[in-house]
Amino acid sequence: CGIVAGVSTRNIVPILIEGLRRLEYRGYDSCGIALHQDGELRRARSTARVTELQASADTDRLAGGTGIAHTRWATHGAPLVHNAHPHFSPGPRRARADAGQDAGEASGISAVGRVGLVHNGIIENHDELRAALTAKGYEFVTQTDTEVIAHLVDHHYTGDLLEAVQQAIPQLRGAYAIAVFCRDEPHRVVGARHGSPLVLGVTVGDFGRGAETFLASDAMALAGVTDQIVYLDDGDVADLQLGKYWLLHAESDGRWRRIERPVRTV
Ligand code: GLU
Repeated sequence: CGIVAGVSTRNIVPILIEGLRRLEYRGYDSCGIALHQDGELRRARSTARVTELQASADTDRLAGGTGIAHTRWATHGAPLVHNAHPHFSPGPRRARADAGQDAGEASGISAVGRVGLVHNGIIENHDELRAALTAKGYEFVTQTDTEVIAHLVDHHYTGDLLEAVQQAIPQLRGAYAIAVFCRDEPHRVVGARHGSPLVLGVTVGDFGRGAETFLASDAMALAGVTDQIVYLDDGDVADLQLGKYWLLHAESDGRWRRIERPVRTV
């Protein structure tokens, strides 16, 4: 139902939590947050209010400059903690076994994730994608439509998150706004929208405009942080990095074009 995400040099947990709070008015049944921390993706999720999420993020000492957060209004899969976003893809089973990663997976809040993702909307062809990804060795641990996107992006990942998202998107049918990040790229979040709202926010910092970059489903979520907002269109992909961002747009012939959109003061 609501997305907040960002890339900064400071700890953005308070910004993401405050953003979720500003989106509470939309209604939600669960919420979650994930950060790039100590070389891994770490998360906290809750079926209670954002205040409880904040408490568990504090208890678990979640912190980081790159992260994604979500309030969920369940469409597929019951409103339970394991179905709450962010969703992680640890990669296909064979790759994990080779890397000796399966052992740590059940421990604590930080299930091993290579790709982490939040999503607003509905993926209509999730059954078909789940079957195809299962055949490739991906294991599904939720009943959501969203989990297919995390595995699909992971499947296409060869070291460049933007490229992986660009390859995953044409395979999705339905409505979505997404924010994705990756364990192997500590200062990057990629967003995309098709049928669900998503805006980009930039702050003016020590390095000039764009010292920090954020995504949110509503500019209001960033009200305490920045009033410099770029409204994304359907078909846009936003590549957020430290102090800079790029926008791309999918043309009807399937090609991607670099685009500029105006920064508005709201
Ligand atoms: N369809 C997704 C789910 O059920 C996203 C729902 C939302 O927009 O919050 O998890």
